[in-house]
Amino acid sequence: MNQQTGAEVFFKCENLQRGGAFKFRGAYNAIKALSAQKSLKGVVAFSSGNHAQAVALAGREMKLKVVIVMPQDAPAVKITATRGYGAEVVLYDRAHQDREQITRDLAQSRGLEIVPPFDDAMIVAGQGTATKELIEEVGALDYLLVPCGGGGLLSGSAIAAQALSPGVRCIGVEPEAGDDVTRSFRCGSIQSVHNPDTIADGARTSAPGIITFPLIQHYVQDMLTVSDPQLLRTMFYLWERMKIMIEPTGALGAAALMEGLIDVHQKRVGVILSGGNADIKDLSRFLV
Ligand SMILES: *Cc1c(COP(=O)(O)O)cnc(C)c1O
Repeated sequence: MNQQTGAEVFFKCENLQRGGAFKFRGAYNAIKALSAQKSLKGVVAFSSGNHAQAVALAGREMKLKVVIVMPQDAPAVKITATRGYGAEVVLYDRAHQDREQITRDLAQSRGLEIVPPFDDAMIVAGQGTATKELIEEVGALDYLLVPCGGGGLLSGSAIAAQALSPGVRCIGVEPEAGDDVTRSFRCGSIQSVHNPDTIADGARTSAPGIITFPLIQHYVQDMLTVSDPQLLRTMFYLWERMKIMIEPTGALGAAALMEGLIDVHQKRVGVILSGGNADIKDLSRFLV
């Protein structure tokens, strides 16, 4: 990788994290903070992806009731995995029901606290620990490349990076089709995107959050986008050459590096590989 890019590259391999993605960090931190309230009975979250598994795992760790709201048509493996972590899965009809409303109703009727996917101070702080660990281990960086969906990982990473490696250029990377944060960053107000068509399913969020966006504006130096073909090339390279099992969203930062979007010659570059829960059967349709 160093030879290919001319840089000194350091990966933070959150594909090896519990639950297969960095999301355990934020979920654990948020639920731990909630559990300081004595009356906490359990938690509820809506997600068909990595946040679901993270909340289920973290909740189980703290011996709490966990309910996850998922669409009926979520991949069976994900539903099974979430149940396997001990959570109760409540399914809803994507076409006719509002998942946020269902989540709020469940929270109300069963006395549960909602664990949001990204727009929450405790989630942001938890996600930032990946970068804290990286810089503590490898030292100061010139660049930090971070996948971005709703911006929880990016804002936490950028805060940690600026504190521990002042002057670092922290860059958020989104899929081209889901460029809501990039456009928001450029024009200075929250912009959204509707159902973006991209293989990076962890970054299909419609807009940055009201907590994450100002943090991104303040701590992040630039935003970039990569196309699905660029993501696939990077993902297959990481699989084949480096034996790193990564999912499309997890390859966003690495793709910006490998596809030469930034001049990193002789720079020290940190890359957050954010997750490894690839649906191999689904992705095999791109193999030629
Ligand atoms: C959720 C997720 C992201 C995006 O995180 P945000 O905090 O929403 O920006 C990136 N990569 C993976 C693997 C994810 O699961």
